[in-house]
Amino acid sequence: MQTPAYLTISVDDGHPLDMRTAELLDRHGLKATFYVPAANREHEVMAKKQVRELSRRFEMGGHTYNHLPLASLPDDQARAEIRDGKHWLEDVTGQPARAFCYPQGKFTARTVELVKKAGFLGARTCFFNRSELPRDLFRCGVSTHAYSHSAVIQVRHALLEANFKGVVDFFRVHKAARDWELHFQRAVAAVEREGGVAHLYFHSWEIDDMRDWAKLARAFEYAASRKELTRVTNGELFAICRSRQATDGSAAG
Ligand SMILES: [Zn+2]
Repeated sequence: MQTPAYLTISVDDGHPLDMRTAELLDRHGLKATFYVPAANREHEVMAKKQVRELSRRFEMGGHTYNHLPLASLPDDQARAEIRDGKHWLEDVTGQPARAFCYPQGKFTARTVELVKKAGFLGARTCFFNRSELPRDLFRCGVSTHAYSHSAVIQVRHALLEANFKGVVDFFRVHKAARDWELHFQRAVAAVEREGGVAHLYFHSWEIDDMRDWAKLARAFEYAASRKELTRVTNGELFAICRSRQATDGSAAG
């Protein structure tokens, strides 16, 4: 069976500039998942009213309550962060939060268990340069971070996270592209060829810092022009992968 080809986008941290991102996404008819914490010491977060407004057009995913790195928290606190963030978001949006994202990409095997127990369907990591269909739905990678990392940073970051496939594919798929727009286009080309998921992820505040709004608009326009790719939210992707795995499992068994 041929591997299907998907396009998904995720936006982290719930910054008020996400409203600007949402407008751009709408203009190109793209789906996305916004991972939103209730509070964040490092960056401003949207008002509840804005979170609610976004939830009418996009998927909203859990990103803990206070945006703390879960790997370094005691179990009780990590559990509360995951659970309270989920309840807060569901309360604000009136919809179930199915997708989760680890703050700062930090997690352990124990964190994964807590996220599963909280009732999420899957979780996004910061494993870069990954465009295959996720096998482990709680360790879902991304193709491209919309930030132009040097090759040294790309490789070091991937090695630190033991993301060895990400190191290999940084060269094989992305041809060591530094420019994130080119890096993403190469992910799209690979997914059109081999199947998988072209997954663009970013922070709206980072796009603003880099003055990359025009570039983001171009990347969205390009993504929207690739008609072979099925557009999904992160949560829809998790649900699709889960049912594929169930089918494969029953076929094999
Ligand atoms: Zn974050």
